[in-house]
Amino acid sequence: MNIKKSNLFYSNKMARIYLMSVERTIGEQAMQKVYDLAEVPADDRPPPNNYARQFDFVYMGAINTALGQMYGYRGEHALTTKAGHDSFTHGLAEYGPITGASDLALKAISLKIRMRIGLKAITETMTKFSDQTTTIEDGGDYFIYTIHRCPVCWGRQAEKPICYSSISLLDAGLRWISRGKHKFKLEEVACHAVGDKSCIIHIWKEPIA
Ligand SMILES: [Zn+2]
Repeated sequence: MNIKKSNLFYSNKMARIYLMSVERTIGEQAMQKVYDLAEVPADDRPPPNNYARQFDFVYMGAINTALGQMYGYRGEHALTTKAGHDSFTHGLAEYGPITGASDLALKAISLKIRMRIGLKAITETMTKFSDQTTTIEDGGDYFIYTIHRCPVCWGRQAEKPICYSSISLLDAGLRWISRGKHKFKLEEVACHAVGDKSCIIHIWKEPIA
């Protein structure tokens, strides 16, 4: 592989949580192979536990590519889905805007308003602590979560959307928003890896029964 830096950065802490999640499942030895394939610098195996924006997007994409090479589509899907969940529960949930919005889960406000506030907090946190610019809009029956610059599929090409960890991060976020009571339909409808401008996930407002 010939790594070309993006000069866009993910926070060390979020990348660390993601990578440690994968390592917990596949073990230390296999993880070294992932790092080798993805050409991750020695100091970043894993990156330090701090909020600095230093982990180049290109390594996030390359790590996911390596997981696909080593474990196939299903393996990559399972590993990155878990890593996305862990990124919310062990990472994003500790960032200021999310903890600040946490008491909204206790207030007697409607689920749709909690979704609006909670999703906004998630997008603002992603934008503040990484170069992953993210926005949320109302699309009527669903919210439109747009990742304008996506680390997950950076430098990758695919036939269908592949940002599984972004979907599972939102899935975990929505569990927090709904106090663990509801699950929501999520669908990645556009992905940079298949040639779209941005990665877009639709979040249906009506919970799955
Ligand atoms: Zn993407």
